[in-house]
Amino acid sequence: MSEQQDKHQQRQQKVKQKVDEKIAAAQQEQGILQVITGNGKGKSTSGFGTVARCVGHGMNAAVVQFIKGTWDCGERNLLEKVGVPFAVMKTGFTWETQNRETDTAAAQATWQQAKQWLQDESIDLVLLDEITYMLSYDYLDLEEVITALQQRPKMQSVIVTGRGAHRRLTELADTVSEVRNVKHAFEAGIKAQKGFDY
Ligand code: ATP
Ligand code: MG
Repeated sequence: MSEQQDKHQQRQQKVKQKVDEKIAAAQQEQGILQVITGNGKGKSTSGFGTVARCVGHGMNAAVVQFIKGTWDCGERNLLEKVGVPFAVMKTGFTWETQNRETDTAAAQATWQQAKQWLQDESIDLVLLDEITYMLSYDYLDLEEVITALQQRPKMQSVIVTGRGAHRRLTELADTVSEVRNVKHAFEAGIKAQKGFDY
């Protein structure tokens, strides 16, 4: 065996040992709270990817969409066919609607459904898509959302998406991912594409 190969093997052996130790140490069984935030593209698609993963195992997921009601949503079209329940806020993007009162009412109504799912042990995964904006606009009460997340069934996982996640959310979460914008097609004048962006 060459000296190089020998060194490589030793290094890999050490890596393997460390990984094995970590795997052995991670023994808790519980639902996971994940926050996916940041300005780059890929937050909602990541959340929906996990919903697909969950449903693919024959488990139950529910999706709450806080601001994309008026968009034709490819994931919704697909997932509703396999029985995933959706609660959709019936306003469009928040920067299009300019009525605080109707926005707040719509957010509150959508949240009531979310709260029910967050108390339902039969639901393994709840996706709260774009909920961060509801909190930054004060349409929903932060404390109420935090409490509902804390009191959810032990085995239930929740994914929260949206830019500018509140620090209380990221502190509470088990897993936090920030998607950084390196570049985006939109900045080069490319329109949002069906089947790719929605
Ligand atoms: P996606 O739904 O594609 O995963 P996202 O959830 O990370 O995106 P949002 O902030 O929810 O991003 O944006 C919704 C829409 O805006 C999507 O069509 C997405 O392609 C687009 N978008 C996301 N990031 C950017 C960006 N940095 N600049 C311009 N448009 C963006
Ligand atoms: Mg999104």
